[in-house]
Amino acid sequence: MVKINTVLGTLPADQMGPTLMHEHMVLAYPGWEQDALAQPIDLKELASACAQALGEVKQFGIKTVVDATPCDLWRNIDLDRMVAEKTGLNIICATGMYYEAEGMPVYLKFRSQVMDITAELYESFMQELTAGIGKTGVRAGVIKVATGHGCITPYEEKVLKAAARAQKETGVPILTHTQQGTMGPEQAALLTGEGVNPKKIVIGHMCGNASLEYQMSVIDKGVYIGFDRWGLDFLFPDNLRRATVLGLLGLGFADRIVLSQDCNARILGRPFVMPDFIQALIADWSYTHLFKNIIPQLKQAGVTDGQIGQMMVDNPKRIFSG
Ligand SMILES: [Zn+2]
Repeated sequence: MVKINTVLGTLPADQMGPTLMHEHMVLAYPGWEQDALAQPIDLKELASACAQALGEVKQFGIKTVVDATPCDLWRNIDLDRMVAEKTGLNIICATGMYYEAEGMPVYLKFRSQVMDITAELYESFMQELTAGIGKTGVRAGVIKVATGHGCITPYEEKVLKAAARAQKETGVPILTHTQQGTMGPEQAALLTGEGVNPKKIVIGHMCGNASLEYQMSVIDKGVYIGFDRWGLDFLFPDNLRRATVLGLLGLGFADRIVLSQDCNARILGRPFVMPDFIQALIADWSYTHLFKNIIPQLKQAGVTDGQIGQMMVDNPKRIFSG
């Protein structure tokens, strides 16, 4: 059985159990640390807050959580480790980069003016997948890549190609971010075109597009798809996510879908005061929304325990064990 990298060591893939494939500890956009009035961080306190919030998933049987935070969004391995120790959850961390418009590729942009950075990105990903992240000794278990709205920029294309090369050499899965329900088919085509086994690819945030034609154009590439933003109603309404996943399940694709919430326990920086209308649209967004609301609604619509098991247990295990 394939052993996967968690932040506390390796784990046989068949021991992953019910798995959330795309969550975060915190949301921290590049630049927050330069805000003189950002709330200071006490890592111990932050770890306790994250462990308390994320730990609630254990009562619903979850054993493993993928922290899909890329390198440039304040991924914090010490925080992941502390939360894994406090909760007993298996936490898998990522290497990889976010999409150009919201990530931090300035260093790479500068370097790319004089050289092709694809090889450097590949080497960096490989270091984190095989030797470890910084001095932590923790090896990344997935590669996260991302593209922006409506196009794959030259920078993002280099990230995807570097990820493809690292995937082929290590066998770890690639987990993607798509923006506003676009570029799923293009991501799948680019990655499989680079020789990545489609069974090692999860095209993420596919629940941001209710078109079954769009869904099928990704599924047809042989990859997995992430319905992984439940509760983010201001981006796309849950009822349309539900209608879409019900359509796909009706077509027999329970073996190709994973479920998650893209949630976090805290936003770093200054206190983030959202307008009331947005607050109302994310009122349900939490690490447990899937279990308290969405899965019961899916079952009411006829989805079976077997199908839920495929999406929460069997598919994550297959994605990681290859
Ligand atoms: Zn995410």
